Amino acid sequence: MDNIRRCWLEIDLNKLEHNLMQFKNIVPKNTNIIAVLKADACNHGATTLARKLISLGINFLAVACLEEAIELRTIDNNISILILGYTEIINANLLTKHNLIQTIVDYDYALALNQCNYAINCHLKIDTGMHRIGVDANRIDIIKEIYNLDNLNITGIYSHLSVSDSNLVNNIEYTQNQIYAFDKLLSTLRNSNINYGVTHLQSTYGIINYPNLEYDYVRLGTGLYGFKSDVNDYMKINLELIPILQFKCLITSIKYLEKNDYVGYGNTYQALTPRKIAILNVGFGDGYKRSLSNKSLVYIHGKKANVIGKICMDQMMVDITNIDEAKVNDVVTLIGDKINIESLAATCNMMTNEFLVNINKRVEKVYIQKKF
Ligand SMILES: *Cc1c(COP(=O)(O)O)cnc(C)c1O
Repeated sequence: MDNIRRCWLEIDLNKLEHNLMQFKNIVPKNTNIIAVLKADACNHGATTLARKLISLGINFLAVACLEEAIELRTIDNNISILILGYTEIINANLLTKHNLIQTIVDYDYALALNQCNYAINCHLKIDTGMHRIGVDANRIDIIKEIYNLDNLNITGIYSHLSVSDSNLVNNIEYTQNQIYAFDKLLSTLRNSNINYGVTHLQSTYGIINYPNLEYDYVRLGTGLYGFKSDVNDYMKINLELIPILQFKCLITSIKYLEKNDYVGYGNTYQALTPRKIAILNVGFGDGYKRSLSNKSLVYIHGKKANVIGKICMDQMMVDITNIDEAKVNDVVTLIGDKINIESLAATCNMMTNEFLVNINKRVEKVYIQKKF
């Protein structure tokens, strides 16, 4: 199947390296990076990215769930792998078997894990204001109790910022309160002689907007891929990030419309003048959202072509009247250099990450890596 391509994601590992270096340059020198590769690294392919990152010195990865963690364990026996979400107790034996680090999501979960009677490596999650998983930062009594449980080997403690991507005064104050609550807890634990392990708080926007915090680790996800989650996200430090992914397909057929001809299901596009159109090998079944119908554009030979008519499940049509040189089998860029992925996602009312994880498995991944 090597040369058979319908539509594909082109992922540049040199750009991944570039983005990683941008972050290495701004994190404090004693802070290390945990690369967050959940949801198959937002569809960039977790194992391939992990191999590249490990070759660049990263030795700590994080994912959302057990299945993702076991997949990454197959590529390296020595790296640390943290599961950020919940693992069912009936599967807790697999945490030990694969030498994974489980997040303690709350007190009852800590007790249940402890009941398993085999040593489990954990990081304790603290809720400082997000109100998702984690033990309330003020519950020192409970937190101390968890640290004293016999079967839990708690090697770290962390929290998560909920509005670090915003520079609104209220949100900055909220974030500072979260940081304060986390620090206060750490100092209380130190004063009680509890060895709480390594610390981490910031993810991509926490790193960029609060670069002076000096915890042991930061958790870097989206920033590695080189895009913003949302067009409007605030970035205090202007990092030079490059999107590592492009989405491409081929022209499969070309035809000519006469004045008043319609295109596609529902006749939503009508040619007001004669047009030349191209049929493309991609549709909403691949993750090119139907809500982009009659709204988005693609690039062919560096020139714009508007999407016309309703996007179908496996195909769509574009107007190439002004692209004389376009021919069958030419490459079409759906997301890439000139097509900003953030605004394409915004056009479908989505975050960038959300758009990307919705790209379908049948879209092949092609990795590019320059040899030096
Ligand atoms: C997803 C996630 C991250 C990574 O966030 P980015 O904004 O993608 O860097 C970090 N920590 C937790 C707990 C997460 O769920």
